[in-house]
Amino acid sequence: MNFHRLDDLDLQGKKVLIRVDFNVPLENGKVADDFRLRAHVPTIQRALSKGASVVLASHLGRPEGKADPKFSLKPLVEPLSGLLGKPVAFASDCVGPEAEKAARELPAGGVLLLENLRFHPEEEKNDEGFARKLLALCDAYVNDAFATAHRAHASVEAAARLFPGKSAGLLLEKEIDVLSALLLNPIRPLVAVIGGAKISTKIGVLKSLAAKVDALLVGGAMANTFLGALGFEVGSSLTEPDKYDLALEILETALDAGVQVLLPVDLVCSAKGQEGGVYLHTMASKFLTPDVAACDIGPETRARFARAIEEAGTVVWNGPMGLFEQEAFLGGTLAVAQAVASCQGLSIVGGGETVEAMHHLGLAHKVGHLSTGGGAFLEWLEGRKLPGIEVLKK
Ligand code: ADP
Ligand code: MG
Repeated sequence: MNFHRLDDLDLQGKKVLIRVDFNVPLENGKVADDFRLRAHVPTIQRALSKGASVVLASHLGRPEGKADPKFSLKPLVEPLSGLLGKPVAFASDCVGPEAEKAARELPAGGVLLLENLRFHPEEEKNDEGFARKLLALCDAYVNDAFATAHRAHASVEAAARLFPGKSAGLLLEKEIDVLSALLLNPIRPLVAVIGGAKISTKIGVLKSLAAKVDALLVGGAMANTFLGALGFEVGSSLTEPDKYDLALEILETALDAGVQVLLPVDLVCSAKGQEGGVYLHTMASKFLTPDVAACDIGPETRARFARAIEEAGTVVWNGPMGLFEQEAFLGGTLAVAQAVASCQGLSIVGGGETVEAMHHLGLAHKVGHLSTGGGAFLEWLEGRKLPGIEVLKK
């Protein structure tokens, strides 16, 4: 894809506004996990080494357009300064006199962090006046936030549209490059593993992938909806019966396209009301009884999924294979995570909970590309155009 890249920008002696995704988890007013800070460090360093001073803008949580100390970016100053090895100034507003003064006083090679963009309702309304106020702080604009690229917000869309000197940051560049190749010319066989809670949140993704991939592996609660649609008893499993027709449609699309579809052949289930009442259940031999819920894929399914993943030229994974937050139902997600991590082909993992699981299992560093986007990643897989990326195209 032909878009403006950071190395195309002349930043010598300039102030660059970098739109980052510093939507970090906070606990007792402290940053609980700094991975979202670390993700943007290479872009910040590159801008600094190109002779820029850096103004950082981000949202945090959902303050609903009002200044709310709970969602202040102030607690990020110290850890960020530690990661960059230099002081980080802070402006208690992202636009207006306070921000302008801080930007004016920023020394060459300095770094300034602005307060939460979403303290102003104009941000989420893609307000051009607000975007212009942000741009008044700088001479160049860089977007490095893939996780918000699917939102037409002022700091993401209007700012980039209104500004000639713009580019993607290094993190966003990598997302665009890897994910474009995934949809346009993947190394085959292309294997998609889709799981998670609800089919309704991923219909577009499943439809799009069902026509593109060589193999589609479905696990998680979403698989229950496919199994139910095919006439299996699903007991008290999480399912969406109103989506049975759709599930059958997706299976048909896949069959028409010659795509191999793997559904669970065995499941780990829990009996209602029986704390820790966990046992194996094989689809082939027995139907689920009404008080039993499928909470994970079983060992035979795990082995089949792992084999398909091992043979992949490219594997893309979104959605846990079970109720992985509970130890008893972590096995399926663990098995898929391990197979993805040891896959010789290119591995791509995205989605809020899936990436969280990868970190939790200590396997994140073994993935070829760990996407920083949840919703943005899914919309990309669907083949939708993301407003924050469209405006960076040449
Ligand atoms: P992601 O954020 O990675 O896209 P989702 O939000 O679609 O993933 O789904 C994650 C959730 O799905 C997890 O909270 C997990 O517990 C739940 N889940 C997966 N399989 C099951 C299941 N069999 N029964 C109930 N919940 C499940
Ligand atoms: Mg999720």
